[in-house]
Amino acid sequence: MRADADVDASRPSGPDGLVMGKDGLAALVDVLIRRGFTPVGPTVREGAIVLAELGSADELPYGWGVELEAGRYRLRERADGAAFAHAAGPQSWKPFLHPPRVREWTADRVAGELVVTAERVAPPRYAFLGVRPCDLRAIAVQDRVLTGGAYRDPGYAGRRSGALLIVVECTEPGATCFCVSMGTGPATGPGYDLVMTEVVDADRHRFWVRSGSREGAEILAELPARPADPETRRTARAGVAAAADRMGRSMPETDLRELMARTLDAPRWDDVAGRCLTCGNCTMVCPTCFCTTTEDVTDLTGDHAERWSLWDSCFDLDFSNLHGGPVRASARSRYRQWLTHKLGTWYDQFGSSGCVGCGRCIVWCPVGIDITEEAAALHDWTRSGQPTPEPS
Ligand code: SF4
Ligand code: SF4
Repeated sequence: MRADADVDASRPSGPDGLVMGKDGLAALVDVLIRRGFTPVGPTVREGAIVLAELGSADELPYGWGVELEAGRYRLRERADGAAFAHAAGPQSWKPFLHPPRVREWTADRVAGELVVTAERVAPPRYAFLGVRPCDLRAIAVQDRVLTGGAYRDPGYAGRRSGALLIVVECTEPGATCFCVSMGTGPATGPGYDLVMTEVVDADRHRFWVRSGSREGAEILAELPARPADPETRRTARAGVAAAADRMGRSMPETDLRELMARTLDAPRWDDVAGRCLTCGNCTMVCPTCFCTTTEDVTDLTGDHAERWSLWDSCFDLDFSNLHGGPVRASARSRYRQWLTHKLGTWYDQFGSSGCVGCGRCIVWCPVGIDITEEAAALHDWTRSGQPTPEPS
């Protein structure tokens, strides 16, 4: 659903929705292509479930799941043939809506004159298939950051305005997931065009589908689907409820914003700084991190120049470089900046948490630093008034 869409909250498919089989999923991708969308969804590539353009539903990761732990990601085969029974992979939808490298303009010297040409590439009209509820919230967070304030990013707005969002609710959380703590899943919130819940019984593989926008309803009307029976709806809801009970991680039950404000001098920051490599992986994989830097390049003739916008990270030493040097020179100050922004000052800037509980920063941290463990340690420190014990 577009960020600025005229929302029809009445669920045009009706509250009970429709049910379809694997043939419906195949038809969905075909319909999306026929309607001019570029479908993007999960697929197995190079030992991971990544998000990539799909030519057909056959490319979905049927029969694959994942094992996640701090600093660890492994594919594992599933006997049930489920397509969406896997937790978040290394990417979110961020690289599609807010790409890591964007050329802003080029400049050429032509007959002694400087000609500057703004980059104007019509973005593809994406259909994101398999958006997790936590990632749906992350898109809403980036909408607020990149289009909701005084400094609107027109490139993001252009890519986002045409995007169709097809959510798949979570029935198989990872060991690093904590969306329940953040109120972002495993059931979906608003903002989708279509939402599906996958149900795999002993002998039946089906999807309970509901629409959340007129365009979603029009697409759903083209699929081989029938009214959802009570048993499918009940089983689907039970699968999502069971997922909520199997979250791998949780945040401490406290006001995280207040916790961040009260622990700026906690010794835990020194502890985590001793482990953090300041590599910035956590910011690259995070679906809400949005910072960019600007790079100007020229060719060897000096007659051609380009300006690029590139993802940046608050873990980079240069990130806070002002005259005289970086404001945050130590690993302690950079990790503290990242965590206190995510869980605390993001509220002041954007009115929400900057963390949606996807767990990617835990999985893709090369030394396995765990945001929930760090928050818990800070919480323990406020309760005990004593320095937290050394991590084992
Ligand atoms: S901070 Fe970590 S868990 Fe939270 S949204 Fe970013 S990557 Fe996901
Ligand atoms: S917390 Fe982990 S991923 Fe993030 S900068 Fe430190 S070492 Fe890298």
